[in-house]
Amino acid sequence: MKQYHKIIILTAPSGSGKTSIARFLLNRFPNLSFSISAATRKSREGEVNGKDYHFMSEEEFKAHIKKNEFIEWEMVYEGKYYGTMKSELERIWSENKVPILDIDVHGGIHVQKEYPINTLSLFVKPPSVEELRKRLESRGTETTEAINTRVNKASYELSFADQFDHVIVNDDLDKACKEAERIVEEFLKS
Ligand code: 5GP
Repeated sequence: MKQYHKIIILTAPSGSGKTSIARFLLNRFPNLSFSISAATRKSREGEVNGKDYHFMSEEEFKAHIKKNEFIEWEMVYEGKYYGTMKSELERIWSENKVPILDIDVHGGIHVQKEYPINTLSLFVKPPSVEELRKRLESRGTETTEAINTRVNKASYELSFADQFDHVIVNDDLDKACKEAERIVEEFLKS
């Protein structure tokens, strides 16, 4: 399989702090570019269509699946689809940049299989499942039911950590960012 371009995958159970780490890396390395996923969930306050996600209806999403336009897609939560479009990676590569994918664990495994060469995968681990629940509660964007769903899913997803190149334990965000920075710097130089 031919693959010359680089990809960085950042995966973690929801609430592990991976989005903060992604933001840090995007600021630190100007040649990284955030891969904007397609998603069928409702946008949260402050989120911008075409910047955070390409928000779309389930019908639109399924039409893209039919046309084979996704590298990977998952029903991450009940009835909510998320996916990485081939056109998104092509867009980033055409700008001579490296895409950074903030995607769920299964999506991460899938992309590694699809693009085994020149791909760096990072798994961000919360210090504990209890800590993860606290973080989701303090974020205040989710209902109790949604938090329970995310915490249950997280416990399951933690069992896949060893399928990624590096595991970063996020008990201290600064430390976790520094560790990710070191790994990414090395990868970009390679
Ligand atoms: P949220 O709804 O909190 O923005 O994201 C929920 C989960 O979906 C997160 O773990 C996020 O990384 C993941 N996600 C976002 N985009 C994609 C994608 O394109 N594919 C997959 N498989 N997961 C995604």
